[in-house]
Amino acid sequence: MRKVAIIGGGQAGMPVAFGLLDKGYDVALYTNRTPDQIRQGRVMSSQCMFPHALDVERRLGINYWDDECPPVEGIGFALPNPDKPDTKLLDWASRIERPAQATDQRLKMPVWLEEFEKRGGRLIMEDVGVAELERIAEEYELTILAAGKGEVVRLFERDAERSPFDKPQRALALTYVHGLEPMPEFSRVSFNFIPGVGEYFVFPSLTLSGPCDIMVFEGIPGGPLDRFRNTTSPQDHLERSVSFLQEFLPWEGDRCRNVELTDDQGYLAGSFPPTVRKPVLTLPSGRIVLGMGDAVVVNDPITGQGSNNAARAAQVYLDSILARGEQAFDRQWMQHTFDTYWDYAGKVVAWTNSMLLPPTESALALLGNAAGSPRLANFLANAFNNPTTLFPAWTDLPSAQGLIAKLAEEQTTAA
Ligand SMILES: Cc1cc2nc3c(=O)[nH]c(=O)nc-3n(C[C@H](O)[C@H](O)[C@H](O)COP(=O)(O)OP(=O)(O)OC[C@H]3O[C@@H](n4cnc5c(N)ncnc54)[C@H](O)[C@@H]3O)c2cc1C
Repeated sequence: MRKVAIIGGGQAGMPVAFGLLDKGYDVALYTNRTPDQIRQGRVMSSQCMFPHALDVERRLGINYWDDECPPVEGIGFALPNPDKPDTKLLDWASRIERPAQATDQRLKMPVWLEEFEKRGGRLIMEDVGVAELERIAEEYELTILAAGKGEVVRLFERDAERSPFDKPQRALALTYVHGLEPMPEFSRVSFNFIPGVGEYFVFPSLTLSGPCDIMVFEGIPGGPLDRFRNTTSPQDHLERSVSFLQEFLPWEGDRCRNVELTDDQGYLAGSFPPTVRKPVLTLPSGRIVLGMGDAVVVNDPITGQGSNNAARAAQVYLDSILARGEQAFDRQWMQHTFDTYWDYAGKVVAWTNSMLLPPTESALALLGNAAGSPRLANFLANAFNNPTTLFPAWTDLPSAQGLIAKLAEEQTTAA
C-alpha cells in the first residue's frame, strides 16, 4: 500500500486525501486546526464554486450540502454611471448552465475532517514546519503541502515571472449577512465595478446558521473602499459595509434594509499579493515536497476562482498519483503534475490578474457588448465555470470582435 502524506485540511488537500483513501492508499492528513476550532472561528473565504469544481466533490461522495446550499443561478454585472452615480452605465445578467454553490468552509471542512477519519484516514493535528516536513517526507513516499496561506508555504520559491504583483492589489473584506433582499428572477453573483474605487459582489451561501448572503468588498488600497482596516466591532464592520453600498451602489444599498451579521465571526478583512510559487520544495536533507492549491497559486478573490482552482488541482493531482502506479514520485513527476494543472490555472491567473488592472480594449468590448447581447452575456457568465474559454478573446481585440459578431449572428439566426 503506497503511503501519502497531505499537509493542510482545506479545499485543495482534502479531496486528494478522500480520493486516495478510496483507492486503498495509506493516507495521513496533517492539519493545524481542529474541527471545533474551525467551526468556532472566523469566516475564511466566500468560496463560490462552479459546477466543474463541485463535480470533483460529487465524484468523491463528499458533496453533503447539495440539497441545503442555496443555488447561485447566474452572474450579473453592473457599472455605475460616474456622472450620475445612482444609475448604471452598464447592466446585464445571465443564468448559468448549472448552479454554483458557496458552502461556508466553517461548515464544510470540519465535516470533511471527521468523515476522513470515519473512512479510515489518519488525521494528525500538528502545525507543520521544516523539522516536521523532514520527518514526514522521510516516512511517506509522497508529501504534498497544501497549507493555503500558512507561513510554511513561503518555503516554496516565488515564481517572479508568473507573479506580476509584489504587493496586495486590493483591501479585501467579507460580510456574511442574513436578511438581504434577493435578486428578482434568479439568484446570482452580482458584480459591481466602480472604476478607481474597487469592486463589490454578493451572492447566496449556506453558513452555520442556515442560508445567508456573502458580501465581498475589493477596495483599491488607500481609496474609499479600503475602509475595513480598523473596525472596532462586528457591528462596526457591518455598518461600514452597508454605508459604502448606500453611498456608491444605491441599488445594492436598497437590498440591505434588514441585514444583520450571521454571527460574531461572520466578517473578515485583510489583504495579500497574488503569488505563484515554484511547486517543488527541496528540504535541507534533499528530500522533496510537492505544493498544491493556494500554497503555490494564490489569486486575488476578484474572480472567485481560488476554491475552484483548488478543486481542479485536486482532480489533476489525484489522477497523476493514481496513474503513477508503483513508480517513484520523483522531481520530474512532481513538476509534470503541476505543469498539467498550470495548463488550466495559468489562464485563470491571467484573467484574474487582468481584472486588477484597468480593463484592456478587448475586455471592455466583451463586457460592454454583453449588455445588448444575451448570448454574449451567457458566454461570459458560464466562463466562471471554465475561465480558459475566455481566451484568446479576453486579451486579443480581433478575437473579441470576432466572438461578439459570431454570438450576435447566432442570436439573430435563433430569433
Ligand atoms: C476574501 C476571500 C474570498 C474568497 N472567495 C472565493 C470565492 O468566492 N470562490 C473561490 O473559488 N475562492 C474564493 N477564495 C479563495 C479560496 O478560499 C481559497 O483559494 C481556497 O480555500 C484554497 O484552498 P487551499 O486548500 O489551498 O487552502 P485553505 O483552504 O486555506 O486550506 C489550508 C489548510 O492548511 C492548514 N494549514 C495551514 N498552515 C499549516 C501548517 N503549518 N501545518 C498544518 N496545517 C496547516 C489550514 O488550517 C487549512 O486547513 C476567497 C478567498 C478569500 C481570502
